Amino acid sequence: MSSAIFDNSAITPVEKVYFESNSGNRVELLVKRDDLIHPQISGNKWRKLKHNLTSAIATKSKGIASFGGAFSNHIAALSALGNIAGINTLGIIRGDGLDVNNPTLRLAKENGMAFHFVTREQYRQRNNPDFLAELNFRFPNYFWVPEGGSNQQAQKGVWELGDEITSWCLQTNTTLSHIACPIGSGGTISGLLKSQNKPAIGVAVVKDNRLLSHLEECYGENLNVHRSALFGGYGKVTSELEAFCLDFMSQTNIPIEPIYTGKMFYALCYQREEIGLKPQDLVLAVHTGGLQGLNGLFYRHQIDEDAWKATMSNLAL
Ligand SMILES: *Cc1c(COP(=O)(O)O)cnc(C)c1O
Repeated sequence: MSSAIFDNSAITPVEKVYFESNSGNRVELLVKRDDLIHPQISGNKWRKLKHNLTSAIATKSKGIASFGGAFSNHIAALSALGNIAGINTLGIIRGDGLDVNNPTLRLAKENGMAFHFVTREQYRQRNNPDFLAELNFRFPNYFWVPEGGSNQQAQKGVWELGDEITSWCLQTNTTLSHIACPIGSGGTISGLLKSQNKPAIGVAVVKDNRLLSHLEECYGENLNVHRSALFGGYGKVTSELEAFCLDFMSQTNIPIEPIYTGKMFYALCYQREEIGLKPQDLVLAVHTGGLQGLNGLFYRHQIDEDAWKATMSNLAL
């Protein structure tokens, strides 16, 4: 068991990109390329798992257990971490059982993750102390991490991301108007807001009004929760969103996916007025990674696999 994977804390680059909208509007964005942080433990999941691994080792836990849907980026990342760091992982998965063709679960299994499948009703109890106590009894001595990895340890890792952004701004003499990221379980935006006193834009990709209102209450004026880039809800992709993602990738050379980063970049390119951004505002968007999610969308035929692969193979990476 070793946390050596997190030792070389390579600082991810910030890139300046331009996107020209359909109406000819040119948008300038800074992109913090956390998608490049690790090939398997991608983006914000790397940030959030880092100190969870330290805690799991420090508490001499038998492994790390967590929760996710069957196509979850968090589950994929946690399983890869288990494989690399040599620690057991257990996934409490919403769903009927192992579909061996599901690319995320197949990968997680190859990485050595053990699964426990629960119904939708049971999964809804994932933060209920009685249900957690039951799981803890059934699977003793695991270090339990909530869905999406968003706990106190995660905040510490995202704080480091915030520090990197602050240092980059000092070094390059850049003044940002806002920092932006998608909101899933809210751990990333919370960590960013705690690490610096900068206005933040959180682009909601889940319809969870309780979570979104709670975040607004916590962070007040510093946080602008943007709810208009949902495209129907979590994991939903429309043809307009898909076309935007392909266009954005071609124009910027940055690979994205439509569940998290595609919705964030759509909002920052096409909904600036609605967000309240002024033309001169300079936004730094955190690319939270998550490209493994594309495989699940291909698998469910939710997006056009040929079009995505053609576009991505043309990126000058
Ligand atoms: C999990 C995930 C998010 C959501 O982050 P939260 O901290 O849960 O809000 C955003 N982007 C990507 C790519 C993710 O995989």
